[in-house]
Amino acid sequence: MNPKTLETLRKAGIRVHLQSERQLFAATDHDLDLVFTRAADIPGFVAEGVVDLGITGLDVLRESGVENVVEVRDLGYGACRLVVALPEESPLRGQPLPTGTKVATSFPRIARAHFASRGLDVHVIQVSGATELTPHIGVASAIVDLVSSGSTLAMNGLVEEEEILRSSARLLANPEALRSKSVEIARLAAQLDSVVQAEGKRYVMANVPASRLEEARRILPGLNGPTILEVAQPGMKAVHAVVAERLVNETLERLQAIGAQGILVLPIERLVA
Ligand code: AMP
Repeated sequence: MNPKTLETLRKAGIRVHLQSERQLFAATDHDLDLVFTRAADIPGFVAEGVVDLGITGLDVLRESGVENVVEVRDLGYGACRLVVALPEESPLRGQPLPTGTKVATSFPRIARAHFASRGLDVHVIQVSGATELTPHIGVASAIVDLVSSGSTLAMNGLVEEEEILRSSARLLANPEALRSKSVEIARLAAQLDSVVQAEGKRYVMANVPASRLEEARRILPGLNGPTILEVAQPGMKAVHAVVAERLVNETLERLQAIGAQGILVLPIERLVA
């Protein structure tokens, strides 16, 4: 079970009754029972109607080749990219891979489809792990693998040549369940949406001199502009706004520069715009 999935469910207000990480089933305090299984099995279970809904990565869904599922939501987390990479010193860099080039990957279906779409006749070799090692031990000349920060590629002397797919966690539904349980699934999707919307955002509160309110408005564009409230302190107004996490430090400095006081930065669990 991906801890981020449990965290997302918890933030969406769904309490999961889980005693041990090795548990394969769990009840929730909602009309929802959970089954934990290998990521690669999830698309098939959803397609067959074994479960109504599943959460797994787009990379896993595409690699499964399963078609009888509906992608209900992009949940945003688990973001990664599937890329073609070569050793830094490879003579194959910067050109289409020659016929017969050995490419190691644990995503053979996606890799084959990608190279075929480019008209390249490479030899895809399926491995189940440590893909980054394969060019260094003579298994392959190139790899197709997932990259998140890029540090694993760099540590293994590899460089990205081409991006094949951008992936993240998806909420998948069985098409029949989507029809017969549309209200319940829409409700759950809306609950999860509110968590996804809050991701990477903070709530900033500050008291600013009333005379600098226009500047505060420009610093805190917020969703619909900042909320402005009266405060007991004469000549001051309270401003509240949702701010992207990456802009918080800059925002605080700009607020201080216009005389803001009592600045608070709060986490946001859920946001419904
Ligand atoms: P990084 O060093 O952050 O680029 O991560 C790369 C390593 O983590 C590779 O071995 C990938 O197979 C694995 N990885 C990165 N992102 C994901 C993901 N979202 N799901 C599964 N494996 C991942």
